[in-house]
Amino acid sequence: MPKFATYLHPQTCQTSKPSHLIPFKGYSFPHYSKVRQELEKSLSDYPSLPVRRVKYSEYLRVHTREYLQQLVLLAAEKPLEKFNLEMPHLLGGCWGLEHCLPGYAYGLGGLFEAIAQMKQGNLERAYCFSLVGHHAHANWGHGYCLLNPLAAAAKYAQEQGFEKILIVDWDIHHGDGTQSMFSGDRSVYCLSIHSAIDLYMAKASDLKRGTTTAAEAVGHCNIPLLPARFADDFPPKMGLTGQFYRVNESLSAFQSALDQIPWTPDLILIFSGYDSHRDDCGKETTGWTEADFAALTEAVLEVAKKANCPVLSNHGGGYKLPITIASAVSHVKTLASYS
Ligand SMILES: [Zn+2]
Repeated sequence: MPKFATYLHPQTCQTSKPSHLIPFKGYSFPHYSKVRQELEKSLSDYPSLPVRRVKYSEYLRVHTREYLQQLVLLAAEKPLEKFNLEMPHLLGGCWGLEHCLPGYAYGLGGLFEAIAQMKQGNLERAYCFSLVGHHAHANWGHGYCLLNPLAAAAKYAQEQGFEKILIVDWDIHHGDGTQSMFSGDRSVYCLSIHSAIDLYMAKASDLKRGTTTAAEAVGHCNIPLLPARFADDFPPKMGLTGQFYRVNESLSAFQSALDQIPWTPDLILIFSGYDSHRDDCGKETTGWTEADFAALTEAVLEVAKKANCPVLSNHGGGYKLPITIASAVSHVKTLASYS
């Protein structure tokens, strides 16, 4: 088994009915399916983990039983009332994703496979595609995230003996679902760097979850970046408290947060979103280029080196296709070769 491998199988985008018959909204499944195809082509030189499907019940580690039951019934297009269940709380971006449950089962399977190989000492680092999940909460979802594969994988990793887990999220949007799932959990530390003014968020009031104050209250770390067009007094006017950072502080704030992790991690998970690239959504917020994704990766790998722990990276957001692919290639190159 190689020290680095990818997991980009077409099964991670399997649907339970033909996707052209599903009424997706915005940059939902069809976009991610295209991204996966392009990633598979661009990263074909790396060894691949075998395809693996897990049961939907593996998601019970982070989602409620009722929510999963509702999604299965929705996918089967059966009336929920018969089962005394209410419609799950899903925002527009999630419509139709219940038909992607097979893909979610294969996506989580890849993360489990990587973790199992890491546990056996066969694998040091991996890059796995799954349908995105960092906005999925225990019993609801938004922002194209129905289920949260990386959070379920973190729980699975703990069962395999990786006690302390660092989850790094550099997608331009706050990893609010992941933060809520590990709220007050001292064995998992979520570090999210994101735009303070996040347009995919469910409601303006939800922006509060992305502040330094909100993260500290539940034992995690947020680095909210305030876009250049907003004045310093904008956050307090919106009722947002805590510290905010500007575009030129993004990398130093990230490094300083890595320097202040409360313990030595046994495993590092990355939610690797590329919508934070300056030519996607990060123009006035991060200013990041492809090279900066390599720099972010190196900063995380330095932590991993000191801790002597494996790193599992999960593909995140990114809406400009060529930029997403180029940034992912830059990240993966570093992940596979940095020593
Ligand atoms: Zn995003």
